[in-house]
Amino acid sequence: MYIIFLGAPGAGKGTQAAVVAQKLRSAYIASGDLFRQALEQGTDLGIQARAYMEKGQLVPDEITTRMVLEKIEAPEGEAGAILDGFPRNLEQAEALDKALAGKNRGIDKVVYIKVPEKELQRRLGERWVCRHCQAVYSAKKSPPGQNGKCDRCGGDLYQRPDDTAETVQKRLEIYSTQTAPLIDYYARKGRLLEIDGEGSVDEVTGRIEAALHEEEFVTG
Ligand code: AMP
Repeated sequence: MYIIFLGAPGAGKGTQAAVVAQKLRSAYIASGDLFRQALEQGTDLGIQARAYMEKGQLVPDEITTRMVLEKIEAPEGEAGAILDGFPRNLEQAEALDKALAGKNRGIDKVVYIKVPEKELQRRLGERWVCRHCQAVYSAKKSPPGQNGKCDRCGGDLYQRPDDTAETVQKRLEIYSTQTAPLIDYYARKGRLLEIDGEGSVDEVTGRIEAALHEEEFVTG
């Protein structure tokens, strides 16, 4: 089964997608994480993506779609996957549909996590991320036990360079012009599950599980 997590930067889609992937024992493919890993490793992909990421712009479709489809077509992605951060525009969504149709598959559900823009700006401004396991902390709402260290794995926490006020504004603009049209695109296909993304991580997870349960994706 293929499930997309859709939402603005800061909506919590990465956190929630990772939880759901673990529960469903599904492959987890996060395009932003793949780019950041490539950047850290200094690969060609990382070098190509860097300038776009720093400015808060989308990496060109050709590079992004190839990277994600390679993961979907790898043995780990065969049974299905949770997609986080991809697709981010209509061209990517259509390329994904086409690739899955070629395998007689399709997108099963799209979990759209909805959060008001003011709350997104606040969350991104106080976000710290673990360099090692990508766990997310809020300096104010959910600080780590030990300053600068991840509670889960002990890794170092850092603030993403694209979480500065100016870049956040750019990313939110790109989200509303390029990514938000996907809400309609998947609603028309009858795939959209709209989830209220305000509240604690556990509350939001509960809402997602209830919605997927209703659709018989999660049992128990
Ligand atoms: P994220 O971690 O999902 O917020 O992604 C971080 C950055 O990676 C984005 O601001 C883009 O520059 C790039 N990126 C991630 N996913 C995509 C995508 N589907 N299409 C284009 N660029 C992407």
